[in-house]
Amino acid sequence: SDDSADVDAPPGGSAAPGAPGGRKLTAHEEILALRKRLPVFKYREEFLEAVRDHQVLVVVGETGSGKTTQLPQYLHEVGYTKVGKVGCTQPRRVAAMSVAARVSQEMDKKLGQEVGYSIRFEDCTSDATVVKYMTDGMLLRELLTEPDLGGYSVMMIDEAHERTLHTDVLFGLVKDISRFRPDFKLIISSATLDAEKFSKFFDDAVIFIFPGHMYPVDILYTKAPEADYLDAAVVTVLQAHISQPVPGDILVFLTGQEEIETCAEILTQRTRGLGSRIKELLVCPIYASLPSDQQAKIFEPTPPGSRKVVLGTNIAETSLTIDGICFVVDTGFCKQKSYNPRSGMESLIVTPVSKAASRQRSGRAGRTQPGKCFRLFTAWSFQHELEDNTVPEIQRTNMGNVVLLLKSLGINDLLHFEFMDPPPPETLIRALEQLYALGALNDRGELTKLGRRMAEFPLDPMLSKTVIAAEKYGCVEEVLSICAMLSCGNSVFYRPKDHAVHADNARLNFARGGGGDHGTLMRVYNQWVETNYSTQWCYENYVQVRSLNRARDIREQLEGLCERVEVEISSNPTEMEGIAKAMTSGFFYNTAKMSKSGDYKTIKNQHTVYIHPSSVLHKQEDPPLWLVYHELAFTTKEYMRSCIDIKPEWLVEIAPHYYNGKDIADSAAKKLPKVVGAVSKAQKKPVKNVAA
Ligand code: ADP
Ligand code: MG
Repeated sequence: SDDSADVDAPPGGSAAPGAPGGRKLTAHEEILALRKRLPVFKYREEFLEAVRDHQVLVVVGETGSGKTTQLPQYLHEVGYTKVGKVGCTQPRRVAAMSVAARVSQEMDKKLGQEVGYSIRFEDCTSDATVVKYMTDGMLLRELLTEPDLGGYSVMMIDEAHERTLHTDVLFGLVKDISRFRPDFKLIISSATLDAEKFSKFFDDAVIFIFPGHMYPVDILYTKAPEADYLDAAVVTVLQAHISQPVPGDILVFLTGQEEIETCAEILTQRTRGLGSRIKELLVCPIYASLPSDQQAKIFEPTPPGSRKVVLGTNIAETSLTIDGICFVVDTGFCKQKSYNPRSGMESLIVTPVSKAASRQRSGRAGRTQPGKCFRLFTAWSFQHELEDNTVPEIQRTNMGNVVLLLKSLGINDLLHFEFMDPPPPETLIRALEQLYALGALNDRGELTKLGRRMAEFPLDPMLSKTVIAAEKYGCVEEVLSICAMLSCGNSVFYRPKDHAVHADNARLNFARGGGGDHGTLMRVYNQWVETNYSTQWCYENYVQVRSLNRARDIREQLEGLCERVEVEISSNPTEMEGIAKAMTSGFFYNTAKMSKSGDYKTIKNQHTVYIHPSSVLHKQEDPPLWLVYHELAFTTKEYMRSCIDIKPEWLVEIAPHYYNGKDIADSAAKKLPKVVGAVSKAQKKPVKNVAA
């Protein structure tokens, strides 16, 4: 096609700094030259032929070889975007945004025009968009409005090896679409060589391998286990920085934003302490809620004579490629969801990575030259303690959300849905039970009107239910603000160590008026709105501007969705009872009661849990006897994050099919009931019928 012309001229090569006529290359010409040096470029024609000749193609290539950024462009260049969009899914938000930004730059177009991205609560596409990057979760939602993906000529399910829940569910759905849409091309792309499994699932689809070259990577283990991997990581980075030659950047794998921020802080301090005796060390954190200009910093070339250290999570394992990395520091841990279908408890836990993940991590050091990987654990531990492979997310997560989506897509028989690796049956049954308890499914397991409305919201079913229930209690405005604040994916409060007391006071000020953390979030939001979204006000009150701005965006969208599903907007900001009842309508599963010893026990499982230190209800003089929590987080203990105090009789009023008088009878007495009939017979039976 015509567009491919600028890719074919002028001839690229690793030593082609000049344009014809000896003038210097423009920035864009330089980018084009870079495109041609990527490993996939040599196979462009073969790849396009394979797509032409096969409906489903499994592609495999090393991380950084150009699959994500180049393949959709190749398809665009030869005309696939003339008959529909070329879509490409990513398991992570950051990757979808960053890759789309890169590709729009390569195509010399404004982001959001020809090239765009779509992630939850943020749509950066337009009518002009023909190459669209999106999270796998967003594509699932798109299926609700376009079940045949009619607007797409090609869909690339990228990072398939990550096996996220959404990607796994997509496999079954897109496979079905490819059966009845012969014009639809499907590409499954993976960074690891276990492509056979993908090929088999897609009826023995052809596997296309992009050969890549990897330089050797020296693996160095610690002699003894590290007591504190964060501290060990800092020391290792500093040692590598001082003793290893430049150029050669460092990539550190940590488990989450908080850790990344701490590590960045310590590294900045210590290198400042060393002053000019060492080369400059540029500390570059990367995580989802980092502003995009700072995210972009990790890709900027390191100035000569200095070194860059990138601090990231497993996002840097395969989703993002940063050029110039020669040293990898692998803590051996990542944060992983874990789910116990019996108790229904889901938590994020810092977990040892698998051997496969650790190998991926070390591989990041050998892309452009020989490298080194410092594993902060022992060789024995690698051999004997790490699992071979990461368990697919579908086998360790709550599926409520996905089950509601599948039901909305008209897929009723979930036990016969084509899963690559099926979820444990208890997980499916638990999800059905929970949706039934929320009123989203009837006793035959069919979607109810309420369920249909709930599915419209890109929220967890418990939150969707809360929003819809708020109508009854006349506090939709307030609940929308709270839900938006809970969904902004970031801490709302800012607590600098040297101002901790001031910050805590500011936070507790918002707590006045009751309603626990939920009431607090509402007041923060409302007061911010009253100041006309003042940034200064945020500074003065130790509130994160970015979080509030995001919450504002989310809230706007949720309000739009309310209109669509005909939830009437109402408001009553001073009446906490209605708000607490709305929260209880969605979260009655997450109820805990104070025990004699002063900690809390969940009503359902008598599981011991604690109020998170960040909660305004933490260490209160008059702690609530009963509360509903938003989520559990496991760090040193099982913590309830975001709590609101409730009255036990509401449970029977709001969820009579779930709680009976007996469950709450002892609320006055200090003793806990021995047996809690939380799951009534009435709901277990029909669900079994559904499953069978
Ligand atoms: P793959 O999907 O095979 O892992 P990508 O297409 O993501 O590979 O990346 C190919 C190359 O594009 C990378 O090696 C890197 O050089 C470059 N690249 C990708 N994203 C960016 C970005 N945001 N900024 C700068 N360069 C990038
Ligand atoms: Mg990729």
